[in-house]
Amino acid sequence: MTEIVHNCVEQGALYLDTSPMYCFRSEEENSERWVGAAIKGIREKVILSAKCSPGNGGTEIGEFIMANGFSIQTADQFRKTLEQSLRRLDVDKLDCYQMWTVSNDLVYDSAFVKGGWLEGAMKAKEEGLFQHFGITGHPENALIKRWVDDGIFEMMTIPFHIMNISRLEGIEYAQSKGMHVIAMNPINGGMFGGDVELAIPALAKSGIAFDNATEMSLKFVEAFGVSALCGLTTLEQAKSDIQYLSKPKWTRAQAMQVYEAFGNVFQGKEKTCTQCGYCKPCPVDLSFPDMFKMKDYYEVLNFENAKGQLQTMSKWWGDGFKLERCQKCGVCETRCPNQLPIMKMIDETLEIINS
Ligand code: SF4
Ligand code: SF4
Repeated sequence: MTEIVHNCVEQGALYLDTSPMYCFRSEEENSERWVGAAIKGIREKVILSAKCSPGNGGTEIGEFIMANGFSIQTADQFRKTLEQSLRRLDVDKLDCYQMWTVSNDLVYDSAFVKGGWLEGAMKAKEEGLFQHFGITGHPENALIKRWVDDGIFEMMTIPFHIMNISRLEGIEYAQSKGMHVIAMNPINGGMFGGDVELAIPALAKSGIAFDNATEMSLKFVEAFGVSALCGLTTLEQAKSDIQYLSKPKWTRAQAMQVYEAFGNVFQGKEKTCTQCGYCKPCPVDLSFPDMFKMKDYYEVLNFENAKGQLQTMSKWWGDGFKLERCQKCGVCETRCPNQLPIMKMIDETLEIINS
């Protein structure tokens, strides 16, 4: 990770987003510890952000603790969680702190109770433990407007990508009031990452040049004045993402031209699994997000070989990929920030496998 972070910073990608939950295995092995180690000696060059949630990661209040990323409901709990992040990151203050996984009014309102999340955060900000206040989640436009109008936050991080522009109205409202908007999942949870070849004839109709799906996705987001929050696994990904974003920007009109070329392919498919993993653990350890990605490749992008991949996963990859083992308990659906009908999607995936 250190090599990737240093390379990004040298190339001008400065914003690092962490949470207590990311890659959490133990107090010593987690994203915050690794980021803290990676920024030794370059702390002043990066914009460091952390977050925690008053909710459970989905649309309900409480639980899904994952080493205290979630269910932070009192000012005291907030303080402990912030201090834990500072300790793991080994810094004395953060540049940004965000209210996390705020996907509906219920979770948002819960932060405002007396002695609650917000009170703890405001006190920490006054004390200089972080400088800029942000909010993040999977909100509808009406909730985005509440965030803006409440005047508490300077920045927001929300889903925005070429397959889902349903939050554009909220984004434009936020930008008109001076809030900075960051796109989570700019390549739709990896759907347009890696070596995915966009074998969609409609694409050619856009007449806009781009080398691959990742470049298309990042440049699309950038055209709306939105910063792409890129998830990175390898140094090569970091280098190529920076290279794509260093090319001349598209205008909004060009971005919409590309979007419209996609329109008939994506219609009605705005809500897809973004691979966030908040739905886990499943009581019978099903790994359905990996299979939902293949389902989208098959149904949305018309990749015929994705069906064969699903069949291979189901047959050979072990019990976690045998979706017929689903107990229909519904726990996963209460945690999904995209509010996906997971049990129905499991049935649909099984239909593809068995067809
Ligand atoms: S509904 Fe199925 S997939 Fe979801 S948590 Fe329960 S057993 Fe796991
Ligand atoms: S099903 Fe929902 S919670 Fe699970 S990985 Fe996909 S988007 Fe995330």
